[in-house]
Amino acid sequence: MNPVTVISKARALLHDMGIDRYPVDVEAIANQQGFQIKISDQLTPKEAGYVVNVAGKQLIIVNGNDRPYRQRFTIMHEVAHEVLELPSMHGSTISSSQLESYATRAQEEILCDLFAAECLVPWHLIAPLTEEFPYEAAVIQQLSDDFEASKSCVASRFSQASRELHIFVLAENGIIRNVIPSTPARDQKFWINIGIQLPTGSAADNVLRNGNNVASVDCDGTIWSASQAAARFACYEEAILLGQWGQTLSLLTLEAIDPGGQLPYSSTSSEDELLPELTGELPWPKR
Ligand SMILES: [Zn+2]
Repeated sequence: MNPVTVISKARALLHDMGIDRYPVDVEAIANQQGFQIKISDQLTPKEAGYVVNVAGKQLIIVNGNDRPYRQRFTIMHEVAHEVLELPSMHGSTISSSQLESYATRAQEEILCDLFAAECLVPWHLIAPLTEEFPYEAAVIQQLSDDFEASKSCVASRFSQASRELHIFVLAENGIIRNVIPSTPARDQKFWINIGIQLPTGSAADNVLRNGNNVASVDCDGTIWSASQAAARFACYEEAILLGQWGQTLSLLTLEAIDPGGQLPYSSTSSEDELLPELTGELPWPKR
């Protein structure tokens, strides 16, 4: 199964259920898929949740001690295993670190996370907001509260849906683990490598060292990318320090150094264009 199939299935589910507002009602989605939700205080801090069959009923047991947004993600992650028919790679329980850490994730689990993110922050609801708001820490904080989804989830979805030159970078303990460019940024071939250290002098490096919650910095594109394209951009970064696993989020906005140079970037979203080819129709009307 590939990511496009996963996204198609998530969008079809949202469409069938008429999900048109946020926060998305995850319990309704779980119920519709045949699950009951049970919040339990009996789980250890390492367990996010698990599925159990009781008297013919499928129960998703969720750790009531986890943060509420984490609980919502756990529910959608378990629903994803069912909808995508992907066997769980985490045994009967998911540990919180397995859910949130990128260091040791199986492909099936990443696909279930993708499905969960698509459901918690639906494309058709986040895309209009990316036109309205800048890609900044305060905006991500607000949208996290509005969607009842983690800052990491909202920030990555914002970048994916944006028609501006944005890049989402997640690092753990100073090592870059996930990079999600907007389609226009990808078209510019401004590549950021995974598995390397955060650039010295980046805002993310700063919050990690100093323990501040948020920092920002203007820099050259070349500190982030060794691509040829990097020299053509300045980069504004806002970084957010997350509480656990030494995670940092970098919200990058690229600005062409010579705006008169007429950079040829496409503003069409390849994902928007790809899905109709697969399904024959757009799940959502174009704006
Ligand atoms: Zn899983």
